Amino acid sequence: MAICEPIIEVRNLKVNFYTYAGIVKAIDGVSFKICRGETYCLVGETGCGKSVTARALTKLIRPPGRIEGGEVIYYSDEGPINLLELNEEELRKIRGAEIAYVFQDPTSALDPLYTVGYQIAETMYEHGRVSKIKEGILRAVEVLRNVLMPDPEKRVHSYPHELSGGMRQRSVIGIGLSNKPKLLIADEPTTALDATVQAQLMDLLMDLKRRENLTILLITHNLGLVAEVCDRVAVMYAGNIVEEAPVEELFRNPLHPYTKALLRAVPNPRKKSVRLESIPGTVPNLINPPPGCRFHPRCPRVMDICRSKKPPELWRGDDHRVACWLYE
Ligand code: SF4
Repeated sequence: MAICEPIIEVRNLKVNFYTYAGIVKAIDGVSFKICRGETYCLVGETGCGKSVTARALTKLIRPPGRIEGGEVIYYSDEGPINLLELNEEELRKIRGAEIAYVFQDPTSALDPLYTVGYQIAETMYEHGRVSKIKEGILRAVEVLRNVLMPDPEKRVHSYPHELSGGMRQRSVIGIGLSNKPKLLIADEPTTALDATVQAQLMDLLMDLKRRENLTILLITHNLGLVAEVCDRVAVMYAGNIVEEAPVEELFRNPLHPYTKALLRAVPNPRKKSVRLESIPGTVPNLINPPPGCRFHPRCPRVMDICRSKKPPELWRGDDHRVACWLYE
């Protein structure tokens, strides 16, 4: 296993949402660390807690959500900091400058009232990289060129509605990278775009990662994308990480019944006549999650202990962990 110099380490993170229907136990003790320079993926079905985990890293959880426990240790140049202990003003200095986000929907990420150049300039101004917005707008041309925006001198003066979906997402990536962050959290960054634009933007992100020496946390439900770009992957189910491994190991030797089921549901163009398998049942209601292993109502290998006791995390080798009683 390559030596991991962590950039961020999440320990036993817990997030609940206090709704009228009850308490949604959305994140139930999630732990992982991301090594400098890698692309780490969180993968799982919609509603499994990937995005909530990503937002919780810099306390971007708004009411009725609440972070109930855990630590998020960010290894800054000045030393380790628990981000969950920082106040909003301290976090604002880290968000954007050290840790930047690219969200799924570029339309809602951009302000329709301002040009993309102004929005890039404003981010740089907020973090002290430029002393005037005017200077920032000049620098924004370079930022847009860096994300391969066509005709950046013209586009810097465009409003979001004047751009295509791909151009809008390039602008959002530009805003994300304008302060040279160390960690980029990309939450389903290409899901809202068509397939060819998706491929172009993922190539761009990977190219930027190499050029800018970035670490990427990629949130996705797309296992094809995981296979292509990730170094290590964590599989989430119902607010838990159920398996984590280097990407090749996970695809070659999946251990958790949920991971195996997910992989069987991925189309394989070489096996034309094979019917894709679906996972029976649905993701559980997290107001009353199933006791024990949260996957047990859907698991083909369920045992008595699974219905009452949460499975421990077990290591198989140095870098492959699984939370399942089958491996106890
Ligand atoms: Fe299935 Fe039990 Fe493993 Fe959960 S702990 S995945 S129910 S075998």
